[in-house]
Amino acid sequence: MNELLRKRFSASSRRGLYPSARVPPLPGMEMRAREDTCMSHDLTPPIPPYAVSLHDRFLCSHCSSCFRALPSHAPQQCFDLKSRSNSAPPFSCPTCFASVRYCSSACFASDRPLHVSSHECFLLHQSHSGTCPADDDTADLRVALRLLYSLEMRGLLPSESTDLPNRIGGLLVSDLQKVLEEGGEVAEKIREGGMRMSCARNSGGLHGAVMVEEVVLWAVITNAVEVQVSKGPALGVAVYGPWFSWFNHSCSPNACYRFELDNWCEESTSCESSSFRVSPASTDEASIAGWYHEEGGLAREFCKYGPRIVVRSIKPINKGEEVCVTYTDLLQPMAIRRVDLWPKYRFSCCCERCSASPQLYVDYILSCDARNLNTKNNNSATAEYDELADLLHEAIAEYSSEDNPKSCCYKLESLLLSQSSRGNNSMENTLSGRKFLLHPLHHLSLSAYVALASAYRSLYIIGLYEEQNGEALKMGRAAAAYSLLLAAATHYLSLFESSLIAPTSHFWLSAGETILNLVQSSISGKAKEKYESKFRSVSHFQCAKIERLSRDEFMSNSMQFIECISTILSRCWPFLVRSFSYLEKIEDPINFTWLGGAILRPLCSLGSKGTTAFGKSKCFAWEYQSGRRIEEEMNCLYQLAIYSLRYGRYLATICYGPQSYLIDKLTI
Ligand SMILES: [Zn+2]
Ligand SMILES: [Zn+2]
Ligand SMILES: [Zn+2]
Ligand SMILES: [Zn+2]
Repeated sequence: MNELLRKRFSASSRRGLYPSARVPPLPGMEMRAREDTCMSHDLTPPIPPYAVSLHDRFLCSHCSSCFRALPSHAPQQCFDLKSRSNSAPPFSCPTCFASVRYCSSACFASDRPLHVSSHECFLLHQSHSGTCPADDDTADLRVALRLLYSLEMRGLLPSESTDLPNRIGGLLVSDLQKVLEEGGEVAEKIREGGMRMSCARNSGGLHGAVMVEEVVLWAVITNAVEVQVSKGPALGVAVYGPWFSWFNHSCSPNACYRFELDNWCEESTSCESSSFRVSPASTDEASIAGWYHEEGGLAREFCKYGPRIVVRSIKPINKGEEVCVTYTDLLQPMAIRRVDLWPKYRFSCCCERCSASPQLYVDYILSCDARNLNTKNNNSATAEYDELADLLHEAIAEYSSEDNPKSCCYKLESLLLSQSSRGNNSMENTLSGRKFLLHPLHHLSLSAYVALASAYRSLYIIGLYEEQNGEALKMGRAAAAYSLLLAAATHYLSLFESSLIAPTSHFWLSAGETILNLVQSSISGKAKEKYESKFRSVSHFQCAKIERLSRDEFMSNSMQFIECISTILSRCWPFLVRSFSYLEKIEDPINFTWLGGAILRPLCSLGSKGTTAFGKSKCFAWEYQSGRRIEEEMNCLYQLAIYSLRYGRYLATICYGPQSYLIDKLTI
């Protein structure tokens, strides 16, 4: 299933795709800009990790050292322990029956000693021989073992007799005692994981004290990030030192991050502090002094392998301003962000978005009942909301856990339909009583759209596979409509909270891809060529400006993309939504003013003409003809796909840079 979905709904999801303000309890560390910086600028060089581990499911297919995919001729299945006649794949660890593999002798040489000495090898060997539960992912435990060993070798571990430290190797580990005393899911994970780590470190023997293991595992839980270097699921987890882990969280962040599979960083000067546009700040002098000591020594030694992380500005930043990323999904209202952040990071966010009073428009819209769009007081019925949220998550689980996309779509659409307001008919709205009414910008609607787009996409693929072309086309239309609705809704929200351009870029790219697939499977190769050449001949899109981008230029570019998309979409929307009752109720998926009431017009209204290079190109669209044949609909959809992909690529380049995996294979 769709990884974005898994991430959004997994209870134990960690700092994922969408980067927001941590208020660390004790000596607070933070990162501040050294100079004025425009949006769309790398703030750090590629930072090497302290420790990395692949998720279990990628151990057989990727290099444990550099995270690159292994050559495809290597056997993709795990080496079978029982049939030893099979020869082990090249550059694999023989001790754990090739559980760990490398792409080259250089990667093997650089990583295997750490793999063995950290006892990761023993842990995998145990999992393989069924001594330990094999179904849950051991990446967190393995990255903790690696981190523990590296810290130990540098004499940075706390001794068993001392009090629990606040930091180890610069990583925040405070509050562990409280976490364990309070109990709960995280505490259980730490206790159980600590035992397994200790067991591995003592080669199976039991050892009384597990304090060090628990501290390091807690460091992993609060500091690790999912390594996303390709579409699909994250390959593994990584822990970075202070140069990354000291960036605090904000729900209105001015930066986000990406990963790079760099070449080896031998004697490179890129890790020198002079290439950073940020520097650490703290009220605590000792922490700052420790900074240069730790970074100077640690990072250089830790940095021989693994994916690098780069932090990049997504808003203009003033000299001295704090630079923050997000640790949670920012398309959630404040209450949910709090619940999500607390167990892992132990702070109640009080960033500008969370502490605004009255709450900011974006948070109001994300959580208000559809009727309150007209009255603008947010006294929603909480019990009804809770009930609805439960039903919705149950429906989504039909797909995410039960792998039944059809039932998921049916349940979600029935729910959305029964919970949506009947337009401006106040009579009927009153009749719907105390039911919670959703509107398309509510966070539950957005979650439903994510699930629906993904579920319909799988139904579309199933339809194609079974050669049910009519059914496939229908499912494909719904997948395209929901992915467009999602992209357009987050675009609208991003006009009020600009850090939301990061998730918005993913959604436009995914909408573009969905539509393009639909078009390509529905038309002949010949027709496709015709579209492409026609499009090329009329379109003179230049690359929209990315470098030294000002906020006004960005808004102007963005509005022009949206204007083009909106023009084309108004022509294809009726075709896409035909016979889907919920979608048919969405009058205009881009301009939400039809919702009435508190829906604000975007700051920068449609039709404003910019003066950038991109401004010279004009959007074009074929004339509308009524009673169009399918081929004409496809022609229109093709243009829509191209504009969605281009806008997605534009936003992704701003947030993640021109080399990001999101755009590197895009040739439109
Ligand atoms: Zn490698
Ligand atoms: Zn091994
Ligand atoms: Zn916040
Ligand atoms: Zn380096």
